[in-house]
Amino acid sequence: MSGVLLEARNLSKDFPAGRKRFVHAVAGVSLQIREGETLGIVGESGCGKSTLGRIMIGLIEPSSGDVLFRGKAFAEMNGNERQACRRELQMVFQDPYASLNPRMTVRDLIAEPLETWKICSGREETTRRVLELMQAVGVPGEFLHRYPHQFSGGQRQRIGIARAIAIDPALIVCDEPTSALDVSVQNQILNLLRELQRKQHLSYLFISHDISVVRHISDRVAVMFLGKICETGPTEELFRHPRHPYTRFLLEAVPQPDPRRRTQAALLLGDPPSAIQPPSGCPFRTRCPYATDRCAGEEPRLQKTGGTETACHMTYEST
Ligand code: SF4
Repeated sequence: MSGVLLEARNLSKDFPAGRKRFVHAVAGVSLQIREGETLGIVGESGCGKSTLGRIMIGLIEPSSGDVLFRGKAFAEMNGNERQACRRELQMVFQDPYASLNPRMTVRDLIAEPLETWKICSGREETTRRVLELMQAVGVPGEFLHRYPHQFSGGQRQRIGIARAIAIDPALIVCDEPTSALDVSVQNQILNLLRELQRKQHLSYLFISHDISVVRHISDRVAVMFLGKICETGPTEELFRHPRHPYTRFLLEAVPQPDPRRRTQAALLLGDPPSAIQPPSGCPFRTRCPYATDRCAGEEPRLQKTGGTETACHMTYEST
C-alpha cells in the first residue's frame, strides 16, 4: 500500500461570528490521504468540508491541530519547505469562471503557474508546455489566445485543471469541481480527473455535496456533518453497508429513476443545527430519528464498526 501523503490531526477551525461567538466550521477532524488515492469528502452545504480542504493545502490556518505533508507538520516547516509544499498541493475551484482572470488569455492563464515556479526557460518553451497541457485536458490548441468568456463551463474547468497540474503537484483539492456543470459535462470532467490521476499518480481530496459524484471518483469516503466526520471507510463498503444514520439519509435522498424507490428522506432531514451553538452530545441528534438520552449527553467517537468507522452510539450497540 502507498504511503501517507497528507494527514490531518485533530484539526479545528473557528471563525469569529461577533459578540464573542464563533462558527465552529471544523471540529476535531483527523484523516489521511495516501499517494495516488482519492479521498472523497461529502456533506451538506455549510458542513465545513471546503474549510477543511483549504486548511489541508495551507490556504487557511487551523485554530488548532496539525496538517502533515509526507510526515512533516506544516507548523514545523521552514520557509523553503513550506514553499516546496505549496507547489505540491494545488486546488481546483467550484466556479472556474470566478477563478480565472477574465483579462488573461488561456495561454497566459496556464503559463502563470509555470512562470511563477520557473518551470520553463523562456517564452517559447512556456508556450510549448501550455499547448501540451491544453492537449492533456482536452482543450484544442487553436484556442490558445482566447479569453475565459469565450469558453463553455466545462472547457473553463478543463483550463482550471490544466493550471493545477501545470507544476506537477502531488495532490489536488477539488472543491465541488463539477457542481456548476451539466450532468454529461460532469462525467467528462470526472473521467478527465481519473485519467490524469492514472497518468501522473496524483492524489485528490475531492469535496462534493453530491454523494453520487463522490462515489464515482473516490477510493475512500469521509461523511461530514457539522464540522465532524461521522462515518468514513472504503467507498464500496460505505455505500454497500452505510452504518451512520446521516450516511443512510444522504444515500436515500439521491434521486431514484424508479418512482417506487423514491423516499422522503431529504424532507425528513430538515435544517442542520447551528455551527455557532452545536447540540450537546451527537451533532446529528436533533435530526436523528434514533436519538436517545445518551446521544444528548455523550458525544460518540469514530470507532471501527465492520468495514467503516462510525461515530454513532447505535452502531456500537448493534455490533
Ligand atoms: Fe443518532 Fe444517537 Fe447515532 Fe447520533 S449517536 S446518529 S443521535 S443514534
